[in-house]
Amino acid sequence: MTNNDYLYTDLSSFYGKVFPFKVQKISINAGFTCPNRDGSKGFGGCTYCNNQTFNPSYCATQKSVSQQIEEGKAFFARKYPEMKYLAYFQAYTGTYGELQHLIGLYEEALRCDDVVGIVIGTRPDCMPDELLDYLADLAQRTFLTVEYGIESANDDTLRRINRGHTYAQSVEAVEKTASRGIYVGAHVILGLPGEDEEELVRQARMINKLPLTTLKLHQLQLINGTVMAREYEQSPFHLYTADEYIDMVIKYISYIRREVVLERFVSSSPKGLLLAPNWNIKNYEFVEMLKKKMRELGVEQGCEV
Ligand code: SF4
Repeated sequence: MTNNDYLYTDLSSFYGKVFPFKVQKISINAGFTCPNRDGSKGFGGCTYCNNQTFNPSYCATQKSVSQQIEEGKAFFARKYPEMKYLAYFQAYTGTYGELQHLIGLYEEALRCDDVVGIVIGTRPDCMPDELLDYLADLAQRTFLTVEYGIESANDDTLRRINRGHTYAQSVEAVEKTASRGIYVGAHVILGLPGEDEEELVRQARMINKLPLTTLKLHQLQLINGTVMAREYEQSPFHLYTADEYIDMVIKYISYIRREVVLERFVSSSPKGLLLAPNWNIKNYEFVEMLKKKMRELGVEQGCEV
């Protein structure tokens, strides 16, 4: 370690620079569908995806955006009355819809009291130019992050998991979005079938070249009822133990420059849906384990860059 207690650049230090108050994301299900399920980009969806896994119970599609935000606020404000909020269009593909409809949803979120920005999760092949024009304007007047699901930098893997887009499309979307002055986030999954440590180091070096503001790493989780869960049951492949995954994350982030905010390292799907691996570790526990190991090894984000 070279600089006091620095280990990696975390989300709260980034938000601390941008906002003079604490912020919390509220997940919204705005009733989007997914172009990789309805045939517009592909059928069947990504082989690991069961979209129920990222919808907290207050996200019900029949509720309006503002209703969901108010319920989310009520949930968090009990603990932190001074909190401000980012509306997080997380479920399915947050840019998939008719332009005026999308604008209406984003603007509705921004009109809610104490909402100080929005985060939009989407696919790299789902960002039309007219929407990007609108978002570039929006980024001038509020906090905005567009988060792309990149998942892998390897086209063979992307085909195998039925992602329906290539890595080149991810690069293009990230570069185009960042060039319009919009914060760009990326999401990758570590441990997809066929991707070993060598491949993930190759991926980390490629991801490091992208103009990203934030990066989320997730372990591969097999969700009951998905195509990948069936593949695994028929022909098991390696899934990380928590310790192996910590080692992989440390290696990966040593190739990611310090300017990139590391927003998350694990996802935790609801127990009833999760087939494997069942680590039974909460997010904050994982972060403590990761930091401890980084200190032991004397490694920090970007030390191999
Ligand atoms: S992971 Fe995203 S893009 Fe893939 S099927 Fe699920 S909602 Fe669609």
